[in-house]
Amino acid sequence: KRAPQPTDFINADSLLGDEEKEVRGRVREWVDREAVPVMPDYWDRAEFPFDLLPALGELGVMGGALEGYGCAGWNNVAYGLAVQEIARGSGSLATFLHVQSGLAMTAIYELGSEEQKERWLPEMARCEKIGCFGLTEPEAGSDPGSMRTTARRRSGGDWVLNGEKKWIGNASFADVAVIWARTEDGKIAGFLVEKDSPGYRTAVLPRKGSQRAVWQTHITMEDCRVPEENRLPGATGLGSTLSILTHSRYGVAWDGLGQAMDCYEVALAYARERQQFGRNIASFQLTQQKLVSMVNEISLAQLACIHVGRLKDRGEANPAMISMLKMNNLAKARQIAATAREALGGNGILLDYRVMEHMADIEGAYTYEGTHDINMLIVGQAITGEKAFAPGP
Ligand code: FAD
Repeated sequence: KRAPQPTDFINADSLLGDEEKEVRGRVREWVDREAVPVMPDYWDRAEFPFDLLPALGELGVMGGALEGYGCAGWNNVAYGLAVQEIARGSGSLATFLHVQSGLAMTAIYELGSEEQKERWLPEMARCEKIGCFGLTEPEAGSDPGSMRTTARRRSGGDWVLNGEKKWIGNASFADVAVIWARTEDGKIAGFLVEKDSPGYRTAVLPRKGSQRAVWQTHITMEDCRVPEENRLPGATGLGSTLSILTHSRYGVAWDGLGQAMDCYEVALAYARERQQFGRNIASFQLTQQKLVSMVNEISLAQLACIHVGRLKDRGEANPAMISMLKMNNLAKARQIAATAREALGGNGILLDYRVMEHMADIEGAYTYEGTHDINMLIVGQAITGEKAFAPGP
């Protein structure tokens, strides 16, 4: 149950326009009605909620900030607020959204041909087709430039892909995979690999303790044939890959905020009701200190998200700003979830109270889209001019 008191302590709402509030309200209403009641069970069983996809597609959140091709064309703040609301309901569902919308759709939109966009984006916006984004490999995580997957051009013009990808969200059921591979000239190129392509196999990663209601996958490609028309023409090196990550990372920052908000609301409602020593625990100074520290960080993160979203709309947000946003929000969400868990006492570890689910899901988001460390070093490079994560000798 939601707490009666809103999380908006400093009236960040006064910075929002009517359309932004309408999007947030519509997504929140759907999340409360459709997602919140069922997600803890999916999470517990480590199952993906396929039955929610049609309604998620109708909400307009997939590719919500993209223009045309059946996408909603919201501004970046409205998109962020939609992500925030999905994440309030479930961090796993938000991860599905980042992969489908922030990574796969954005890659096709930014780097694809007109035909590729027409073919995939409208159906992906409605969740009738699902995408994934295969960058990470078993031996290439924070350093994607060391990837080993290769793409060889055949004399007929088609490509042959060989290699492995690890951690790829949605890949076991995706209709299309954006796969990054090194071509013979040493550059990184992007390919749209369609489901059931010969030589393309997926296996879901089992036994996860985080992000349990969404599936990550190991992909193996053995002489996997891809036609030239499925190469992304705009993907001209590792920089193209990283530019897509920046878009998605922005969404992940709002995800951390949304999960932190839910943890705070649950803790506040609980503290007002739970009686010990003949008084509600919200009346104890130590409980208030916990609640204040949570709402303090949430308030600052809200302002930062709205501000960077506005900069992004104007084309003035640079990648390091977005790294700072992601780094901050996930680190703060991690602390807030732990504090909320503590405030709930023993009940905090029960899935019915949702905080434990958020606490576990935040761990995955803390590491994907650039680990906390890597985003910190991106900011470090921006302020010093020194790159601390260059390849070793
Ligand atoms: P490593 O790179 O091995 O890092 C291990 C540790 O070393 C980390 O703490 C890291 O911060 C630290 N480290 C590494 N290099 C440095 C350095 N230079 N300086 C300081 N510290 C350093 N990938 C995809 O391509 N597509 C997906 O859909 C996808 N979804 C994911 C979903 C989940 C739930 C998770 C957990 C991961 C997902 N990933 C995906 C992969 C994710 O992007 C990587 O896990 C991430 O980039 C880190 O790589 P790694 O796990 O190999 O860790």
